[in-house]
Amino acid sequence: MEFTFPPAVVATVPVAGSDQVFPVHRIYCVGRNYVEHAKEMGGTGREAPFFFMKPADAVLPLPAGVVGEMHYPSQTADLHHEIELVAAIGAAGRDIAVADALKHVWGYAVGIDMTRRDLQAEAKKLSRPWCLSKGFDESAPIGPIHRITDAGVMDRARIHLDVNGVTRQDSTVDKLIWSVAETISILSGYVELLPGDLIFSGTPAGVAAVGRGDLLEGGIDGLGTIALRLV
Ligand code: MN
Repeated sequence: MEFTFPPAVVATVPVAGSDQVFPVHRIYCVGRNYVEHAKEMGGTGREAPFFFMKPADAVLPLPAGVVGEMHYPSQTADLHHEIELVAAIGAAGRDIAVADALKHVWGYAVGIDMTRRDLQAEAKKLSRPWCLSKGFDESAPIGPIHRITDAGVMDRARIHLDVNGVTRQDSTVDKLIWSVAETISILSGYVELLPGDLIFSGTPAGVAAVGRGDLLEGGIDGLGTIALRLV
């Protein structure tokens, strides 16, 4: 077999404290998974989880200690940040029980679900898909993945995002409506999870617009911090 042209390079995310990189297979994202954010987006805060996806090569890897650059995307005047705990899947599974779910997690990272909110609002109004409001180029900035053995149990960690030194989002991951284990269990009832899958678990309240020149700094206790500037 001969390819017609060289296949796309596999998207990767650095592994903390290692020369290894984590090959990305698919990116799943959970919508409205913190009560206060669900309310700020017009929901009740009690709905069942729902999912959307970004392409694997939407990742924008942000090495530790480096201020990365993200290009302000086209077709939006309302680009929003959503700081999120990301679970990186290391073992395949379908219909995974909640009690077994964390055995499928290879590690955790800090990610930002960048969103063209104006396009998303229009899509919601017209009952159209979110693909291009959520899954555009560089829409998934992500820090190094910390092995679960190093990260430990991510049950109470603070999660926060600052813009130009001012805190915009500040919560703790125990406020997730659906925990990472529950999310894996439910999602694996729809699709087989495979090694390399990333799950963006949802964002706390405080999402807001950013513009060119803004410095975004986010972090989750135990997983370090990430930084990027919009150019
Ligand atoms: Mn999100």
